[in-house]
This record gives sequence, structure tokens and C-alpha cells, in this order.
Amino acid sequence: TQDCVDAVAAGDALNAYCAKTPEIALEQAAAADARLASGDAPDMCGIPLGIKDLFCTKGVTSQAASKILSGFKPEYESTVTTKLWDAGAVMLGKLNMDEFAMGSSNETSVYGAAVNPWRRKGSDAPLTAGGSSGGSAAAVAGDLCLAATGTDTGGSIRQPAAFTGTVGVKPTYGRVSRWGVVAFASSLDQAGPMTKSVRDGAIFLNAISGHDAKDSTSANFDVPNFEAALTGDIKGKKIGIPREYRLDGTPAEIEKLWNDGADMLRDAGAEIVDVSLPHTKYALPAYYVLAPAEASSNLARYDGVRYGHRATLAKGEGIDDMYARTRAEGLGPEVKRRVMIGAYVLSAGFYDAYYRRAQRVRTLIKKDFDDVYASGVDAILTPATPSAAFGLGEMKDADPIKMYLNDVFTVTVNLAGLPGVSVPTGLDAQGLPLGLQLIGRPWEEGEMLNIASVLE
Ligand code: GLN
Repeated sequence: TQDCVDAVAAGDALNAYCAKTPEIALEQAAAADARLASGDAPDMCGIPLGIKDLFCTKGVTSQAASKILSGFKPEYESTVTTKLWDAGAVMLGKLNMDEFAMGSSNETSVYGAAVNPWRRKGSDAPLTAGGSSGGSAAAVAGDLCLAATGTDTGGSIRQPAAFTGTVGVKPTYGRVSRWGVVAFASSLDQAGPMTKSVRDGAIFLNAISGHDAKDSTSANFDVPNFEAALTGDIKGKKIGIPREYRLDGTPAEIEKLWNDGADMLRDAGAEIVDVSLPHTKYALPAYYVLAPAEASSNLARYDGVRYGHRATLAKGEGIDDMYARTRAEGLGPEVKRRVMIGAYVLSAGFYDAYYRRAQRVRTLIKKDFDDVYASGVDAILTPATPSAAFGLGEMKDADPIKMYLNDVFTVTVNLAGLPGVSVPTGLDAQGLPLGLQLIGRPWEEGEMLNIASVLE
């Protein structure tokens, strides 16, 4: 903990932390020492972590990287972080992210972008650590913590993990409580671990999983020991390669990584089969209808009355001006875009054409996966991202749709509520990390991580 506290304090060139909590860290570390000495020490005891700014941490600023939550210090602790502290883990601080987790490059943050510790060969140009959990990925890859929490609504754990050579686990929807996690799109959001190895991911996932009466979508299932599932034995496992994920324009290096990954699994005794997920091409458009729809409803609470920023009113202005100006001043352009798209697709005149249709597409996407799993497939292998980390500023001012295309391999997993993991599997010609994604059967995170461990 002391080493991490020092590294974080020494300056954070990666802009990974948006709040540093060294006093809390050292106090928790001392308590962890005592627990270790007494022999009552769970696996997470004494492990220094960074916490994504989306998690409410009692008495510590939790702003979801938005101006509208300026100075907001929650009165309560999220279930995920409560479980971590109960297990003896240590909080180094809060981690940078895209505003309200909307983005793929961490560039929508009120704190500015997190920076990837990796660079292209022979270049100093800063690269994105991905998003929205960019601060989490940068902190883990840059040795500013041992592991971090992330959240994933459409890829925000898996894409930053792939861009930074780390492991990111998006659990089955309902495995991890969303209580105390600032809501983006509630039917898609899941919290999960970002770690340096698959084994760390399994241990971390065990610490945060389980039923929570405070989250009505939390599943009341037993949580298996995910670490115990890491036998490395994948003989006879059936791994599906979905043909619809072979997209035009995918760089040759990503194609090669994907083929190499399949070879690694085959060499370890798995059977590789061609599968079809026919509705894949509708996933991204459906996601970018459904996620903004839910966001427009969830973000309605930021009105300047209850939390954070409130616009100063001029003489003669009333409450409507206060709402409008607070939101105009407090929310960034990407968040405003999503709220407007969401309000539009939910409006009486367009609900059937957009929202209802997207919900139908979501059902079909889920059915695609159900059919593949019903045929005996144990997990599905795809690339995690369509490219390696891009340069900061390269995509930001481009057409927002270009940024949305980053999520092409990851959003299906959220739409179907499935577990997914991104594993660092190789480097591109520029020396940048690339990740593969394994999609597991629902509630089979252990098996998914066991297969992923072969790719590491
Ligand atoms: N990049 C996606 C978006 O902007 C995913 C974000 C996320 O998973 N939180 O919606």
C-alpha cells in the first residue's frame, strides 16, 4: 500500500486518479496487517485498489467524472465497495472515467482524459486508455494500484482492458450488485474487476459477487469459487467462432490474433466450431437506442436540487431556469447528446419505431446466444476491440458514430446479459497490446475464466 500511495502521490502523469485517499488507504492497510497477523485474512485483505468514480464511496467525492456532481460526497457506500472493504481491501482513491460512463476514450471526463501507459514504437504521442473505465485500466497497467473496479454497460471494462494489456471481467447481469453505482443504463450496467491476471480477476470477482436485497435485479444464486475453476484443463470444451464477427475492415493483425487465439485453445484440447449469431449487425444500433433511453430517464435526477452543481440564478429567474441552466452548465456534450437521443426515442411519436423495435432486436440477440449455447458450445471467442489503442484527440472530434463503433464486439454481451472477459493475447506491429474476448454461458464465469487463462 505504501508503495502504491507513494506512486500515486508522486504525480500521476496518467491522470488516472481524480481523487486520492492516502489517509484512508494507510488506515485500511494497518487494519489489514492486524487481520493478517490474526490469521483471519480473506484473499483481498491488504490489496490496494483504485475505485472507478462511478461507485459511491461514503464521504469521498463520487462525481461520475461530471461537473453536475461537483463536490458530491455520498452518505453511503456502494455494495461492491462495502464488500471489498469487508474483505480487507484498501482504497487508494477514485479513478477517472468518461462522464457518466458514456464514452470509449475517457475523453468526456470533466477531469480530462486518462492516459495509456503504453506508447507506439518510437512515438511519444499519448494514447487513450480506453473508456469508459480508462482511469481504472491506466492505473492497473501503470502500477498505480494492484487492481481496480470498473463498470461495463457496452464494453467499458473489456475495451480499456484490451487497450492496456490488462484483464477485464464483465460478469453475468445480476451477479454483482448495482446498488450505489451511479446508473447509466440500468438493464445493461454491471460492475466488475480490472486486474493484471485472470487469477486476480477470479479472486476479485468472488469478493464482489452475490445477492443483494438492495438491488432488485441482483440474482439470488450461490456464488461458486471462481479461482478453484482455474484448472487450465479445457479438454473437450467447445469454443464457438461467430462468423458474423468477421467484419470488413478489421485490421489483419486483429484477424491474426483471433486465429492465433483459436489455435491456442485447440492446442490445449478444445474443439473450435463455427457458429452463427445472425442478429449481430443490429446490436450496435439497438444499443445506441436502448442505452440512451435508459440514460435519459436515469439522469433526470440531476436537476440541481439534490446533488452537486447548481446554477446561480439571475434576478427574476425561477425554478425552470434553475433546472435548465444547471443541466446546460453541468453536463458535457456527449451526455447531452445521449439524453436528447433517449428522450426522442421514448417520445410518444417515436417509441414504437425506435425503442420498442430495439427491445425486440435485443430479444433476438439474446436468442441467438441461447441457440448457440443450447447446441453445446461452452464459450465464444471474438476480438475484444476492432483496433489497438488510438491516439488521444484522434477520434474525439470526429463523427460520434466512429467512437461508437469501438463497441461493435462488446455490446452484444450486455444486451444478452452474458459474462465476458477481455484477455491480453498479443501485441500489434506498433508494440501495443491487443485483447481477445471470451463470452461465457450465463452464470458460468468460472468456466469462462478457466478458458481465458489459456489465452493469457
Ligand atoms: N462506449 C460505450 C458507450 O459509450 C460503453 C460505455 C460503457 O460500457 N459504460 O455507451
